[in-house]
Amino acid sequence: MKTGNTAAHAGEKTLEDIPDEDLESFVSELRGSAILPDDEEYDGARRVWNGMIDRYPAIVARCDGVADVVTAVRFVRDHGLLVAIRGGGHNVAGHATCDGGLVIDLSPMNWIDVDPEGRTARVGGGATWGSVDHETQAFGLATPGGVVSTTGVAGLTLGGGYGYLRRKHGLTCDNLQSVDVVTADGRYLTASETEREDLFWAVRGGGGNFGVVTAFEYRLHPVGPEVATVETWHSTDDAATIVRGWRDFVTTAPDEVSAEMVLWSVPDVPDFPEELRRRPVAIVAAVHCGDLAEGERVLEPLRSLGDPLFDFSGPTPYVELQQDFDPFFPAEELRYYAKSLFLDGLDDAAIDAIVARAESRPHYRVLLDIWQMGGAVARVPEDEMAYSGRQEPFLLAIDATWEEPADDDRLLEWSRSFWAEMQEYSSGGLYLNFPGFGEEKEALLERTHGREKYERLADVKTAYDPENLFRLNQNVKPRA
Ligand SMILES: Cc1cc2nc3c(=O)[nH]c(=O)nc-3n(C[C@H](O)[C@H](O)[C@H](O)COP(=O)(O)OP(=O)(O)OC[C@H]3O[C@@H](n4cnc5c(N)ncnc54)[C@H](O)[C@@H]3O)c2cc1C
Repeated sequence: MKTGNTAAHAGEKTLEDIPDEDLESFVSELRGSAILPDDEEYDGARRVWNGMIDRYPAIVARCDGVADVVTAVRFVRDHGLLVAIRGGGHNVAGHATCDGGLVIDLSPMNWIDVDPEGRTARVGGGATWGSVDHETQAFGLATPGGVVSTTGVAGLTLGGGYGYLRRKHGLTCDNLQSVDVVTADGRYLTASETEREDLFWAVRGGGGNFGVVTAFEYRLHPVGPEVATVETWHSTDDAATIVRGWRDFVTTAPDEVSAEMVLWSVPDVPDFPEELRRRPVAIVAAVHCGDLAEGERVLEPLRSLGDPLFDFSGPTPYVELQQDFDPFFPAEELRYYAKSLFLDGLDDAAIDAIVARAESRPHYRVLLDIWQMGGAVARVPEDEMAYSGRQEPFLLAIDATWEEPADDDRLLEWSRSFWAEMQEYSSGGLYLNFPGFGEEKEALLERTHGREKYERLADVKTAYDPENLFRLNQNVKPRA
């Protein structure tokens, strides 16, 4: 039963250290399943979305309910095992898995309960955005979520949550009403505005540091079923002019509009004419989430910008829009690195720097994305919750994707040097859900949150996880 590559980190226990009877009793207590290295399913179970991540946990515990999560947390504590928490498995650094430890895999907890009257939804800790949109849109409702439907609700919410509704309805974490959490000592707690306010403050932007969130409760808003969109794909012959036109439009756009400017290449897939595939493009993208006719009118100047190669604009079912990018970010088969940086503004010099880098992208799959922020995101006071960066007007995301391990160094080096070069246009913070591999560790958190907020996060961490059981994340260190 206990074979396979289960090498742990120095000082941590391995599967071999656990008495057989303890392991057997743990396995039999689960309503879900425990997948061990000898099991046929093991290779699939250990993998996460980023194909670069190749780790070998000792046990993948597929938890099917709160009782399983409590059992798993107690088991890792009692046996000194390293633990990773897996929501949707999309974290680019691979924090949802580990070598040698136990993965609390919440994927069986992909349930959603919608209360259409009260306009709320309770969502299981292993749900993905596709399921949430499917269930809530059945009632013409939505909560702001991510733009790729396979992404986990959990990691995205705990880090903030950017989507097409952000400037009207805020970040995902702004719409959170409560969470249920299993903490490091195996307790099952609820946190909300009125209950354990410190924990509720911390989970909204502080990541998976404070326990295993088994359920999220969200506010819902009327959205769709169709929303107005602009998606025009331009040649990059004069990319800087297109980006400036996009910037000038978004600067005065109403809150219903959330927009992105994407510098990418035409995907190499049969949907596009062969002669245009892999050709660099500047994609003007925006969604208006209010009245459809009003949205079409408001977005018209953006749609009319330049003379695009393709124009995919027009009314789009919200559920469909939320899946538009899915095919380009498949799980497991590609290698990914995604790092971001808040921009103080988007003056012509910043645009020129981004466009120049877009021209030298080391792979046609590399995507640069400028997210327009502001609106409802900026109206929440900075200290209301852990999420930081509310006044930042734009975020630059560097999304590198490639196929071959031999290209790892080249792609990583290019992404990191671009990120370093763009620091002159930034106060230094970033979106912690696009953190690269978190190479800068605590420094990254301090730069984003500032010292005072980081100290407050450390207080909450010390209160709920004093021994740092949950450390495979953007780790906030408890006080000694
Ligand atoms: C293809 C793709 C598209 C994306 N699009 C967007 C987007 O549109 N908007 C956006 O804001 N972000 C987006 N992201 C980034 C995304 O928010 C992060 O990658 C996020 O971490 C994913 O959450 P997950 O649950 O899938 O990840 P996981 O890898 O499972 O988890 C991420 C982190 O959260 C912890 N965690 C997971 N579940 C729980 C839980 N239940 N309780 C406590 N801790 C937990 C994990 O331990 C890990 O540290 C995207 C990422 C990818 C790969």
